[in-house]
Amino acid sequence: MMTRVRFAPSPTGFVHIGSLRTALYNYLYAKKADGVYVLRVEDTDQSRLVEGAVEGMLKSMRWAGVENAEGVCINNQDAVEQVGEKGPYIQSERLDIYKEHIQGLLDSGHAYHCFCSKDRLDKVREIQRSENKVPKYDGHCRGLSKEEVQAKIDAGEPYVIRMKLPADKDIHFKDVVRGDVVINTNDMDDQVLMKSDGFPTYHFAVVVDDHLMQITHIIRGEEWLPSTPKHVYLYEVFGWEQPVYVHLPNILNSDHKKLSKRQGDVAVEDFRKKGYLPEALINYIALLGWSPEDNQEIFSMQELEKAFSLERVSKSGGVFDVNKLNWFNNHYIRQADLNRLVDIAVPFLVEEGLVSEEEAKQRHDWFVLAMETVRESMDYLQEFAQRIAMFLTDEVAMWEEEALEFMRLSHIPRLIEVLESKIMATDEVSEDFVTAMFKEIQKEEGIKGKNLFMGTRVILTGQTHGPEIPKVLTLLGKDKLKLRLEKAKQHR
Ligand code: GLU
Repeated sequence: MMTRVRFAPSPTGFVHIGSLRTALYNYLYAKKADGVYVLRVEDTDQSRLVEGAVEGMLKSMRWAGVENAEGVCINNQDAVEQVGEKGPYIQSERLDIYKEHIQGLLDSGHAYHCFCSKDRLDKVREIQRSENKVPKYDGHCRGLSKEEVQAKIDAGEPYVIRMKLPADKDIHFKDVVRGDVVINTNDMDDQVLMKSDGFPTYHFAVVVDDHLMQITHIIRGEEWLPSTPKHVYLYEVFGWEQPVYVHLPNILNSDHKKLSKRQGDVAVEDFRKKGYLPEALINYIALLGWSPEDNQEIFSMQELEKAFSLERVSKSGGVFDVNKLNWFNNHYIRQADLNRLVDIAVPFLVEEGLVSEEEAKQRHDWFVLAMETVRESMDYLQEFAQRIAMFLTDEVAMWEEEALEFMRLSHIPRLIEVLESKIMATDEVSEDFVTAMFKEIQKEEGIKGKNLFMGTRVILTGQTHGPEIPKVLTLLGKDKLKLRLEKAKQHR
């Protein structure tokens, strides 16, 4: 049988890092098994709908490189479209399908109408709590006759439809990560399957859809593990084959609680906006809950597709460590194509008001060199603005204490003079020019080593450390160097 997996997000407006990992594992598993990865939109909770959420979510998935060929897709024109034979893939467009299936359950006696008001249900729960019982539906409407039900419907009474669980029955299922799970129906509730607004609940829709879409493996977050017995029971009463369940451990904060917004960035979009590269984010989160057979850490998507296996998904959650993510991102920044990095970083400069888009285009080569010069020092590309600010100002913006001390050395006035005459004599300052200039100064003036290199850096940048000095001088260019040399004289 063809392996078919799905990622089934609710369109809440953003993609949580944990959801991206769920999607990724589904995607990887489908690739490995030569199967299909489907994306289904679960929008049965109409109160939580957010305008444009599906589009935003699909764009984030595309950015991350976790794209689906079936289900709800985004095309090259950024339009949301549904692709595949087993649709519609948006639950709110499947209401007829749920109606038909709930009727089947009502007819076979596996579901019933419930007319209990919210007030009544609240009271029942309150009493149960006061008696230290787990709150659950007390079965008040289970025994209504067909006629009683019809009379209430005719009278316009609102109702939901509940699942009719048998008493004292063990529900078994096997989870690839958790092993065998058994729950007794006495510890379960008569779950609402259809709400009074005519929409199915998640629990009902998910089973109907996964079956009709021929999903073979359900790979999702462990928060759904307690719901799985209800789903398994529905498969049983429908007479459908149970899929393979795989519940992934949560991604945790450093305090070992579930990763949440309160502790910093958790949305894929937050990371994109800061200038994280998708390959870094993917590489990092792939390892938060799955471990490869050896100690390899760096994985491209293609390598993940080959190496991934459900058997090596761990039971306990990985702690999200932004420093580790930064390490991965820095690794990929060091290797990435410079033009690509500049394209990602320029909007940050424009945002900071350091350049206009036009100027960035005109001076593209300059920005490429700037990127090459500073990239090793960056955790994410938003930092580019701050790293190159020193090359964009006419004067040294900040003098380090140590640099000021260095400026008092006796060879500095002569070095300033020589630099000035050599730089003024050239048409353009390039890396080759700077290298040649240093050779000349060593020979002609006898200024060498730290005195020469650190001296030049201090004179022109006010700092004792920084990127390679020929690159720094090239980036500053003749005009800025001239202004800075003049200023440097005043720092004596
Ligand atoms: N719509 C559910 C969610 O938002 C999907 C759960 C599942 O994969 O079954 O997480």
